[in-house]
Amino acid sequence: MLVPLVAVLLAALAGCGTPAPEKERPLVLATFTVIADIARNVAGEHLDVESITKVGAEIHGYEPTPGDLRRAAGADLIIDNGLGLEAWFEQFLQDVDAPRVTVSDGVEPIDIAADAYAGRPNPHAWMSPLNVEIYVDNLVAAFSELDPQHAADYAANGEAYAGELRTVHDELVADLHTLPADARALVTCEGAFSYLTRDTGLTEIYIWPVNAEQQATPQQIAGVIDAVEADDIPAVFCESTVSDRPMQQVVEATGAAYGGVLYVDSLSEADGPVPTYLDLLRYNARTITAALTGSDG
Ligand SMILES: [Zn+2]
Repeated sequence: MLVPLVAVLLAALAGCGTPAPEKERPLVLATFTVIADIARNVAGEHLDVESITKVGAEIHGYEPTPGDLRRAAGADLIIDNGLGLEAWFEQFLQDVDAPRVTVSDGVEPIDIAADAYAGRPNPHAWMSPLNVEIYVDNLVAAFSELDPQHAADYAANGEAYAGELRTVHDELVADLHTLPADARALVTCEGAFSYLTRDTGLTEIYIWPVNAEQQATPQQIAGVIDAVEADDIPAVFCESTVSDRPMQQVVEATGAAYGGVLYVDSLSEADGPVPTYLDLLRYNARTITAALTGSDG
């Protein structure tokens, strides 16, 4: 009795009268949470976009796990920022066959000015929403090649998101231009804000140029203390993915206020202050403006 019943069930599962299960969406892996969010806005409902690194991860010197390699082996596309951001990525890709898109391709880089990294491109190009319009163009092209039947949707999603990027850019310029002339300096731990300070006309001061093993040397901290004292800068900041202890030394030495945490290399968790890239840009602008003007924002 059992065998015919199984045969009937198998025949039913094979498609006699029941709808076939929906095909799984292609898997797209991004190296970190910020780019994953940007990519989701372009992908819409058609692709499954995930980040390789978790919220709060240190992206520059990340060390991939065997689990990361297994996930990447099953990916249909892998997205990296490029411009030297992901020091671990070329080695990682040697073990992975999936096609790759580097979203910063075509961005005009700003070179790092200081220390051992002088002359290399600053990788944090996404801190300018104008650059992210180029990221979006690269994503639309890559997704359309991966999944041609939805190319029109990717183009439409990209166009809609580009409109939001231009709105946020205009907001950033307007907000940060309200800062008084004697508070137009952005002091941070990592030199990750070159593109934002270019867009908004601020002076950029930082303790170390790029997150790495050797950072916050006594000389680097002393240099920022001198700059904060020389210009009587009212507030300083540090980023969510690094220790703020070196910046607290600047605070103690100068009397500047600690202005709060800024987000660059990672989003927050979904219930945190910056669950999306657009939130990240707006939150940073509010935090900077509030601290440098001594207001509540
Ligand atoms: Zn960084």
